[in-house]
Amino acid sequence: MNNISNILIVGGGTAGWMAACLMAHRWQNKSLTITLIESANIGTVGVGEGSTPFLRDFFDQLGIAETTWMAACDATYKCGIEFPGWCSHTGPSSYFHPFYGEADTHCVGEFFASCQQRREGFDTPTHPNDYFVNSYLAEQGKGPYKQAGLASNIEYGYHFDAAKLGLFLAEHARSLGVIHLQDEVEKVNASNEKIASIATKSYGLLKADFYVDATGLKGLLIQQTLGEKLISYQDYLPNNSAVAISTDYSTDETSDKRFQDMKTQTLSEALEHGWMWSIPLQTRCGNGYVYSDRFITKTDAEQRLRRRLGNNDKPALHLSWTPGRIEQHWKNNCLAVGLSQGFLEPLEAPMLNLIQQTCESFVEHFESQDQSNAAKQFNQTINSLIDGTRDYLQAHYLLNTRDDSEYWIKARENQHISAVLSDIIFAWDNPGSFEQALIKNANHLAYAKTSWYCIFAGKGRFTDAHKHSLRLTEKKHKKAVDICQKTSQDFMYQTDLLNTVSTRRAL
Ligand SMILES: Cc1cc2nc3c(=O)[nH]c(=O)nc-3n(C[C@H](O)[C@H](O)[C@H](O)COP(=O)(O)OP(=O)(O)OC[C@H]3O[C@@H](n4cnc5c(N)ncnc54)[C@H](O)[C@@H]3O)c2cc1C
Repeated sequence: MNNISNILIVGGGTAGWMAACLMAHRWQNKSLTITLIESANIGTVGVGEGSTPFLRDFFDQLGIAETTWMAACDATYKCGIEFPGWCSHTGPSSYFHPFYGEADTHCVGEFFASCQQRREGFDTPTHPNDYFVNSYLAEQGKGPYKQAGLASNIEYGYHFDAAKLGLFLAEHARSLGVIHLQDEVEKVNASNEKIASIATKSYGLLKADFYVDATGLKGLLIQQTLGEKLISYQDYLPNNSAVAISTDYSTDETSDKRFQDMKTQTLSEALEHGWMWSIPLQTRCGNGYVYSDRFITKTDAEQRLRRRLGNNDKPALHLSWTPGRIEQHWKNNCLAVGLSQGFLEPLEAPMLNLIQQTCESFVEHFESQDQSNAAKQFNQTINSLIDGTRDYLQAHYLLNTRDDSEYWIKARENQHISAVLSDIIFAWDNPGSFEQALIKNANHLAYAKTSWYCIFAGKGRFTDAHKHSLRLTEKKHKKAVDICQKTSQDFMYQTDLLNTVSTRRAL
């Protein structure tokens, strides 16, 4: 770190600007020049509208008030994700994966206990939605804040307009002193497996001590120049394509439709050959169909999505990728951030979190004296995060019970599973402690215990109950439902919250 005086970030998508903001903020007291170059002709990926709660921490670190960036980015609150249609003949027809927080501590134990008893063959209530306050909030279109003066302990994330977020972050990075160049990189020069310089159209040859590859899926520096190969995960994950089309809200502010539109959740609904996202923003809804091109064509996918959305005439954005990751995200004098690191798929919206973790962990490790060891540790951490995420995403497909297409049957019967995920599924399906399996594999899991219970229970992964319902459990279940319902009463509707953002921050 001591002999680094300038960093060049190539790429001005969400990844490039998040990296610029975090590095400029963290190293503002060092004499370091950070430059970001992006092409005005090569667009950003243009999607990526859902986050996890980690994004709150990102803005908190930068000292940016939620209300400031939310207003600029068309953002809404997100309490979790609803998964309808993933199972056709077992379990609930839909379930909610909540962002689990302090508000749930009273009821989560009952959920775990009820699942455990159901695994033992008792007929107990195990629908995840019943036990988490966030699912009640999302269902009612409520956000994570109460009426003025009342404290809230809800965990939440956001939905936002990806293009507007990029512009907002760019402005903030520039205010921190980041130099912004608009130009096209024509060639990347390397020597001894290091980036030597970047040849640009108008600014000529640019040199830096360290480079960040934020050029998106092509990975211009890390993959194309330094030769890092994408390790394909297509044997694990079925999807490699998506089509996105936005929809307008109903103009009738009082209609039920408007209320439904503004629910504080992402909808991730399984369709015949993949799944569809619906993400409510302040002024429009982002939608997309994620699918495998081995089962359905691009044209067919677009037509099906259009039909679902009521045949609007908005343009469609088609995207494709090979699911996977590279091995070395930090290689010599280059760091890959964002899609240049690889991409799994949009399910569970984990990518911005990966970008954030990559930048934060890099900043920590980069300050170490022993850089080669630091890079090794850093790469292991990031790979473990991506592989842990891959396992959780694959669990969605393995646990589906749809029989309406070859796509779903193949996804369920897929034998290409990591040892960790096999172990977790085996532990759930068999007598004995599920907790032990989670503890044993803790270093390889990207999702917490609650998420694992939700996915198994939500997908109805239980053998038929053969024992009578436990009266004690029923009572506890009713108590949990009452607590969650009562707790959710004090919270404000998303539509009201978004109207009162400036006063709310003062709470
Ligand atoms: C269908 C889909 C849905 C997604 N949904 C989510 C989601 O809900 N939540 C989530 O967290 N993530 C999601 N993601 C991922 C998310 O969109 C990306 O991780 C995020 O936008 C970061 O992209 P990026 O900045 O790495 O790349 P990009 O947005 O592609 O940006 C690349 C940048 O590099 C520049 N560039 C490229 N080549 C050159 C060159 N030769 N010279 C100069 N500049 C160059 C471009 O101009 C651009 O500025 C989704 C991704 C897809 C494909």
